[in-house]
Amino acid sequence: MLLSIVLPAYNEEQNIPNTVKVLTGMLTENAIDYELVFVSDGSRDATFAQIQKAAAENPKVRGAEFSRNFGKEAAIFAGLSLAAGDAVVVMDCDLQHPPEVVLEMWKLWRGGAEVVEGIKESRGRESLAHKLSAGLFYKVMSRLIKMDMNASSDFKLLDRKVVDVLLGLPERNTFFRALSFWAGFRREYVSYQVQERQFGESKWSTLSLMKYAVTNATSFSTLPLQLVTVMGMISILFSVVLFIQTFVKYLSGTAVEGFTTVILLILVIGGFLMLSLGVIGHYIARIYEEVKGRPKYIIRRITDVRQREGT
Ligand code: UDP
Ligand code: MG
Repeated sequence: MLLSIVLPAYNEEQNIPNTVKVLTGMLTENAIDYELVFVSDGSRDATFAQIQKAAAENPKVRGAEFSRNFGKEAAIFAGLSLAAGDAVVVMDCDLQHPPEVVLEMWKLWRGGAEVVEGIKESRGRESLAHKLSAGLFYKVMSRLIKMDMNASSDFKLLDRKVVDVLLGLPERNTFFRALSFWAGFRREYVSYQVQERQFGESKWSTLSLMKYAVTNATSFSTLPLQLVTVMGMISILFSVVLFIQTFVKYLSGTAVEGFTTVILLILVIGGFLMLSLGVIGHYIARIYEEVKGRPKYIIRRITDVRQREGT
């Protein structure tokens, strides 16, 4: 039984050696057959060199490097497709996901679970703005896709069957957390405390988090699109009322003072229209991206096998 651990890494040169040491130590101690699959997400520092170094020292460490930064989602999916394990764990390579939890996940998997979700107990020490925006993001997302996302994370164990389902999905705009819910299967949960980041800082800015939220909401829910219809109906109702009022005023001969109404109407309807076009635009952008059918990521190089075998 092989356990693969997929670790997306973006500018994590400082974290890689330590993460490799901690994970290999723990897995060897527990006699688990493992492999570590690192995916350097277009890092601009020596992340891939560090991966290669670790791979040269330990044949159970492998890795790939993207041609540019494609984002964590793409890195996760690349890792899943490179992983050979019967069970695959996805975790951050900054050790914010505590390694011991991997053992719990492994045990639950041996006990028959097909998906083991890591549930965050606390968000660790983060800036207030980050905490608030992440909190809001998960609230909105949970509503939109009708799954409780608040405590979920990308820290999960997936059975080979589930990995194959996810890899078989044709869509390009993936949202790993929600997709693993969507796929179903027998799931178990383990909760964990988010650890402090060892080195470097979080790669998410508030803006990138917002972009992430909109992309994922539109790729997982059509509710915003339906909202457009509702808003349209409301404004039609509104204009019917105003139409009657204007008409009554016209008949009674006091029609000239209607300027305020006209300006308000233009503003209200204009606002609704622009908002609606924006929402529709987001969906068209999604469709456009899917239709282009470009790959989720481009791999520039992978760790050299010959180097690993020492030939
Ligand atoms: N990451 C990535 N590509 C990116 C951003 C982040 O592969 O564009 C990786 C990063 O190296 C780390 C994980 O995703 O292993 C989580 O990122 P980070 O620690 O910055 O996020 P946070 O823990 O603050 O949510
Ligand atoms: Mg982190």
